[in-house]
Amino acid sequence: MVVVALIYEGGPEFLRTPLGGSFLVHESFLYRREKAAGDKVYWTCRDQARMGCRSRAITQGQRVTVMRGHCHPPDLGGLEILRQRERRPGGPEFLKTPLGGSFLVHESFLYRREKAAGEKVYWTCRDQARMGCRSRAITQGQRVMVMRRHCHPPDLGGLEALRQREQFPSPAQREGSGTPQPLEFLRTSLGGKFLVYESFLYRKEKAAGEKVYWMCRDQSRLGCRSRAITQGQQVTVMRSHCHLPDLAGLEALRQRERFPTTAQQEDPENIEHLPKVQLCFTTCSPESQQINGKVKDIKPNSESQ
Ligand SMILES: [Zn+2]
Ligand SMILES: [Zn+2]
Ligand SMILES: [Zn+2]
Repeated sequence: MVVVALIYEGGPEFLRTPLGGSFLVHESFLYRREKAAGDKVYWTCRDQARMGCRSRAITQGQRVTVMRGHCHPPDLGGLEILRQRERRPGGPEFLKTPLGGSFLVHESFLYRREKAAGEKVYWTCRDQARMGCRSRAITQGQRVMVMRRHCHPPDLGGLEALRQREQFPSPAQREGSGTPQPLEFLRTSLGGKFLVYESFLYRKEKAAGEKVYWMCRDQSRLGCRSRAITQGQQVTVMRSHCHLPDLAGLEALRQRERFPTTAQQEDPENIEHLPKVQLCFTTCSPESQQINGKVKDIKPNSESQ
């Protein structure tokens, strides 16, 4: 049995159920309130009946203890709907970008701040550069006006990752119950190494001094730009993933680690390891990519529906 205890700085997050009960939100999973005994509250995974999941949680003040892993990925769509319902009407929601800017969140879409003029602030879809989306928003006080539809669905995984980061501003504020948990590494079949962090897989890129640099395993396949740096037991993640964790792939790698005789297959991941990836990693700083993502020529005043 795996027991993980986390102490939240601001207390754990709770959301109302449609019928007046309450959900505990922990690492994007939803738990239904079961019972209270003394100062402990017992929770079971919301998907216990539907999926046979046996994950449980106990809350005691600021502390959350989870017993047993989930047999399914988190339901980010359902979580987002509950959060939207919880939010008080009026007043747009903002989230910090990894580089200190701000995102507007509107109907689960993310907008990057473009400029302010008078009382108005102009926003462009975060995915303008990546997907060619031309949706824009203007905020004025509590009002949000959106111009043009998005050409893509909302990135619920990325939104959730930003909200998680807001809740855990830095790895240092994330405290375990006792000794720090050792980092998990898995071998690729060709002798490389994966870092496992929050169920995401990262491929080793390079080491420099005490730091080791990692990039998301799905960089080439899905265009994911998430990166990680490890230094001792500390992990720093830069940029959110554009996808959910590949729990099936992770579990397959763990099985292979445990039973090495089945590890004779070729690892398809290494085929993607192209030289251009390395080139981009060394030449593109996060700052320059941020600038490239901006659009210089914008005339929001001339736009209409
Ligand atoms: Zn579950
Ligand atoms: Zn868009
Ligand atoms: Zn990724």
